[in-house]
Amino acid sequence: MKAAVIYGKKDVRIEEFNLRTVGEHDVKIKVAWAGICGSDLHAYHHGSAIAYEEHPLSGRKVPLVLGHEFSGTVSEVGAAVTDVKVGDHVAVEPVLYCGECETCKSGQYNLCEQSNVGFLGLVDDGGFAEYAVMDRKHVHILPEGVSLEEGALIEPTAVAFQAVKKSGLQVGQSVAIYGAGPIGLLTLLVAKAAGAAEIFVIDVSGERLNMAKELGATYVINPTEQNASEEILRITGKGVEHAYEVAGVQPTFTSAMESITRGGTVTVVAGFAKNVELDPMVGLSKEANLTFTLAYANVFPAVIKAIAEGKMDVKKVITHRISLDNIVEDGLERLLDDKSQAKILVHP
Ligand SMILES: [Zn+2]
Ligand SMILES: [Zn+2]
Repeated sequence: MKAAVIYGKKDVRIEEFNLRTVGEHDVKIKVAWAGICGSDLHAYHHGSAIAYEEHPLSGRKVPLVLGHEFSGTVSEVGAAVTDVKVGDHVAVEPVLYCGECETCKSGQYNLCEQSNVGFLGLVDDGGFAEYAVMDRKHVHILPEGVSLEEGALIEPTAVAFQAVKKSGLQVGQSVAIYGAGPIGLLTLLVAKAAGAAEIFVIDVSGERLNMAKELGATYVINPTEQNASEEILRITGKGVEHAYEVAGVQPTFTSAMESITRGGTVTVVAGFAKNVELDPMVGLSKEANLTFTLAYANVFPAVIKAIAEGKMDVKKVITHRISLDNIVEDGLERLLDDKSQAKILVHP
């Protein structure tokens, strides 16, 4: 079958790939849509997060099929799989975990001691392909009201959902979201669904801010034109209860800390390429909370339900649909500097 296979930095090839056979506990799916994520860009442009040595859980290393945000139709199931059937529409939860370590047993399988944040599509074969095979535990059946396109957006939405859930956002509270890429925009949709009152979105790209506005941001701020935290303090009078750091650079981190009110919370969702400085007095003076979230655990069913019930129109973050053949030029290269793009979906 045809797949986008990663060998290392700047080396993704569209080629014939031999997928493993379907084991007893496996499900094989015909991929419908697969989204390009920031971590795919890092894997392609910097060669990071992919397995160069055999991963302890998957036993695999490069070359691997890239892509971890995907949906499809079940085409085959292993002998021991009884609750998924051929023809089911499914979304894939790609995080690898052992299920046996203490952290997994506590329910936080996103922090599995064996996995080291391993994902299908980075340390095992993923979804930029005609077909994918994975253990049944990675598969969630989509109900009728959820399309396969939306199915490919469950994974990034789960990241935003976990962040909002862990932050403890309550109905009527105000929110600042730093970064209007796909995860920032999805955080906006989740925060809105959770009942946030005022939502500020901060980004250096006017195009992305327009998208945030369309998705329901109350205020958008471009920090190249205005000081974001000053503007937030001026409008709210006291700062926001919650800031989400979805950009991952010094200015946004500093501004997020400054923009929250007394007792407020900054939730870090983004990965950071560099160290940042923190003035502890900014946090101390208002008894701020600083917390971090990593991927997700046990939230896919709730995300699927919320989308099925029409609480979040996640399709709106899709800006482009491309074919697998063009994934390098139209996807991995393009996303690096075309800030008008949010989520690009690949169709095999
Ligand atoms: Zn992702
Ligand atoms: Zn584990």
